[in-house]
Amino acid sequence: MVRIHETPANRVVIGPGSLGWVTDEVERAGGTRVLLIASRSATAVADTVVGALGERVVMRFDRPAVHTPVEVTDEVMAEVGSDNVDAVVAIGGGSAIGLSKAVSARSGVPQVVVPTTYAGSEVTPVLGETRDGVKTTRRDVTLLPGTVVYDPELTLSLPAGLTLTSSLNAVAHSVEALWAPDATAVSDALATESVQRILGALPLVLSDLRDIEARRRLQTGAWLAGLCLAQTQMGLHHQLAHALGGTFDLPHAELHALLLAHVMRFNLPHTPGVAARLSRVVSGDPVVVVEDFARSHHGATTLRELGVPHDRMIAIADRVIASPYPNPRPIERGPLVDLLDSAWG
Ligand code: NAD
Repeated sequence: MVRIHETPANRVVIGPGSLGWVTDEVERAGGTRVLLIASRSATAVADTVVGALGERVVMRFDRPAVHTPVEVTDEVMAEVGSDNVDAVVAIGGGSAIGLSKAVSARSGVPQVVVPTTYAGSEVTPVLGETRDGVKTTRRDVTLLPGTVVYDPELTLSLPAGLTLTSSLNAVAHSVEALWAPDATAVSDALATESVQRILGALPLVLSDLRDIEARRRLQTGAWLAGLCLAQTQMGLHHQLAHALGGTFDLPHAELHALLLAHVMRFNLPHTPGVAARLSRVVSGDPVVVVEDFARSHHGATTLRELGVPHDRMIAIADRVIASPYPNPRPIERGPLVDLLDSAWG
């Protein structure tokens, strides 16, 4: 089968201390009137960046929200106007970066993004936005941030729970890339290396959240996982996360973390090559390894604990069946409802 591999341009500055490069990167992008988006958790980091950028920062916004609700983008755009800013800098997880993409899509301004989680949005040309509780995702190369600054020091503050769940969110990108219909030798290599890095570094980070070398390794694994998400079509796992996350406004990383082992158990028998590759990477049963990580989370580990009403499972299953994402196992109603039932708990 003929497959297409594309590598859109995206500049990455990476390493401890790279936060200090943001000003140079804004200048390089031609930014003179900057909108700075930073999650509240990144306020101190944002203050440092404002100190360096000085009067170039003309607007700050500190309330990016998960799943990029269009009302929040509307609110920011009302201030941004037609040409009040000429660059956006976003510091935070996927929520801050999603807002940056949404603003850039509407205004055309270049983006310099500084990720602080392992979600991977910074290297994808993908934006999921929520309107009236329905999340729709689009892919367009102009959404891809031009510059990414990966500073592992900014991840030292990630609490254990988010470290764990955000890492499993990244692993989900790589696992789905391996069984994607448009997987290539490049995406296979990125996915394999990222799973190895993430699952290898995660226990070290969880035993010492301030282990900068293990954090660096985890972040590079997440970068590669983000590239997997960028380069391949995602399957059932991401479809369930989009449908459930958008409908019930669920915490993104926690949702991905609790779903992944269920979807792997559902799909892997139907894609033996991927199962064998993952078994080699983790030196064991990949479902058990991922499930053990997911169960060690001290927060919600079931859809029930996330507050999803059980009687809505059928409607979610029907939505998935109505237009399924490409998936190695054909989606039938009964097995899908069983999967959702076990994820519900
Ligand atoms: P998030 O950005 O919503 O952050 C979760 C929480 O963690 C927030 O309260 C945030 O302030 C806090 N936080 C972030 N970094 C921190 C740090 N270093 N220390 C302490 N606290 C920190 O979570 P997320 O999982 O990174 O992103 C989820 C969003 O990203 C969703 O909207 C999802 O759809 C989107 N996403 C998009 C893509 C894509 O390619 N388009 C990929 C992955 C995720």
